[in-house]
Amino acid sequence: MKYLINTTYLSDSQKRMENVELSSSCPCCGVSLFPDLLYAVCVDHDDTEEDIVYTFNHCQNCDECFISKHPFDEENGDGFIYASSSPVKSCEQNFSEAITSLSPDFVSIYTQAALAESLGLDQICGIGYRKAIEFLVKDYTIHKSPNSKDAILKATLGACISNYIKDDRLTTLARAATWLGNDETHYVRQHPDYTLKELKAFADAFITFIDADLAYEAALKLVTP
Ligand SMILES: [Zn+2]
Repeated sequence: MKYLINTTYLSDSQKRMENVELSSSCPCCGVSLFPDLLYAVCVDHDDTEEDIVYTFNHCQNCDECFISKHPFDEENGDGFIYASSSPVKSCEQNFSEAITSLSPDFVSIYTQAALAESLGLDQICGIGYRKAIEFLVKDYTIHKSPNSKDAILKATLGACISNYIKDDRLTTLARAATWLGNDETHYVRQHPDYTLKELKAFADAFITFIDADLAYEAALKLVTP
């Protein structure tokens, strides 16, 4: 979502109101927030599509300041989209103890993908998210069907999702996240209308469902005599 902000143009020092998508998290502490906007400047060019807005932001959580880069939104032409922030000091992801214990490799890979995204490495972070999903699916399905461990390890990710995840909602989310993840790794995109945003949204929903299932298992253990 873009917000109308007062932006100083570099070429003539004039201020204009511009629609800018702000950073949704702080690169210093990793906390999701709506930053305090301190200053915005547009480095403008003859071709407006080459214009880039830079914002100077303050984080209420860690009290540090950071810079964000917002190139022109070529797709919609209605302002500037968020691209990256710096300095990147933290990409800690808040996964539950249950998820961390189920799949430490998933947590490590997902965190590295998030770091790549924070650094603006948009060509490779999707591949990292795709790999993270694979590790989580494999570790989760082995956890649910320990007797099938060897078959799960050998199965493709698609087969693993189809054959070993029982809940339709989980299957759908895992499949959608995997399809979009595959688009990040291949030359031709099969789903060009979807972006990294949807990939992360599906992956995050999948993680939330697994978290809930692990909490359910723990509760069941407590109440079952
Ligand atoms: Zn912060």
